[in-house]
Formats: sequence, C-alpha cells, structure tokens
Amino acid sequence: MLKAPIGLLGGTFDPIHIGHLRPAIDARDALGLAEIRLIPNHIPPHKANPFCSSEQRLAMVRLAAAENPGFVVDERELKRDKPSYTIDTLMALRKELPDTPLCFLMGMDSLLTLPSWHRWQALLDYAHLVVSVRPGWQPDYPTEVADLLAHHHTTDASALHRRLAGHIWLADNLPIALSATRLRELLAAGQDPRYLLPASVADYIRQQGLYQAD
Ligand code: ATP
Repeated sequence: MLKAPIGLLGGTFDPIHIGHLRPAIDARDALGLAEIRLIPNHIPPHKANPFCSSEQRLAMVRLAAAENPGFVVDERELKRDKPSYTIDTLMALRKELPDTPLCFLMGMDSLLTLPSWHRWQALLDYAHLVVSVRPGWQPDYPTEVADLLAHHHTTDASALHRRLAGHIWLADNLPIALSATRLRELLAAGQDPRYLLPASVADYIRQQGLYQAD
C-alpha cells in the first residue's frame, strides 16, 4: 500500500513569492498531496548577481513554510557546497521514502527547458512531474518534451497515488504572472510588495535591507 503523494518544489527562492506558493497550494489541493517540501537550491558563489545569501534565502523559505500548514523545508541542496542535480535529490528522496509517490512541481518554463537538465529522461523513474501554468510560457513543446508527454501525460489525478513515479500531470492552477526577477525590480524601485509574498517575508526583506537599489 503506497502512502499519500508529496509535492517537491525546488527553486532559487530569491525571494520566495506567490508564484511559488499559490501553484503549490493549488497542486496540493487538486492532487491531495500530504506535504509540500520546499527545496532551496545552492547557487554557486561565482554566479552573477547572488542577490542574497543562502542563509537569507533559507530564512525566507522557512518563514513562508511556517505560515502554510503542510509545508516543510528540505535543506539538503543548500547544505552541499556545490549545486545538486535534481535527479540526485530525487534519487536520495526515493531511498528515504520508498513507499511515497513523489510529485516534482515545476512551472511551464521549466518543462519547456527540461531536455537541458542532467539525466532528464530519468527524472520520471523517481517522481511524477506536476507542471503549473505560468503566464508568458505557452505549451509550445519542443519535440523531446512532446514525446515525453505522449508517453507519460495523464489527466487522472488518482493515477499519481497508485504509482511511485512516471506520470506527468498538467495543472489548471490560477496563473500568477510574477517572477522573483520582477519582484526584485519592484523592491529595488522602492515599491510596496504587499500581497506578492508572505507578509513575514516582506518584513524580513525590509529588516535585512535586501534587494535595495545600489
Ligand atoms: P527568477 O525570476 O529569479 O529566475 P523565479 O521566480 O522563476 O526566479 P525560481 O526560484 O527560479 O523562481 O523558480 C522555482 C520554480 O518555481 C520553477 O519550477 C518555476 O517554474 C516555478 N515558478 C516560479 N514562478 C512561478 C509562477 N509565477 N508560476 C508558476 N510557476 C512558477
């Protein structure tokens, strides 16, 4: 007997915002996910524009999780001193949770570029993919993604409870036209970010003086 599926959402979360949180809540409710695990990723120190530190991104993700029942933070990628591939994280989680279907959540932008991910075809051996609508990215699939969908797409939410991995589910979430990039621009311009991210995260950004214009 399998356990209830859980959702996994990896991201830079620089900062975490409603474009991450609302689609995750919609997926949780549509699919009956038992938990949403937020997995902040490691950003290499040499990457351009490290806007805030790993500790600050983690603090913001923790604040967001604290006000959402069923949301937890998984620090494994941040704790490594080099970037983790998603496939490695999924393989580790599969070992830890042998009876739990894993639903890896991503926006449409990520699905469109999936063929550039390390060992992308193996991802579905370890998890289902749950893809959220994201304004600005239409489902104009490159051939490799169209082929993947032809083999793995399902519209049956219960199928994600009956297997550990292997399905792709296209969500019908409320589209949220927000990116962290846009939010950083807005903050740098001194605009009020209210309702675009959790109030506790907005307070933290203010206290720490993050994302200010130079
Ligand atoms: P940036 O603007 O800094 O590139 P981002 O807002 O796209 O950041 P990420 O942390 O890179 O955020 O995204 C993590 C995951 O969340 C990705 O799978 C991405 O597709 C998804 N995501 C981010 N924003 C949205 C949104 N508005 N709607 C749906 N999915 C989203």
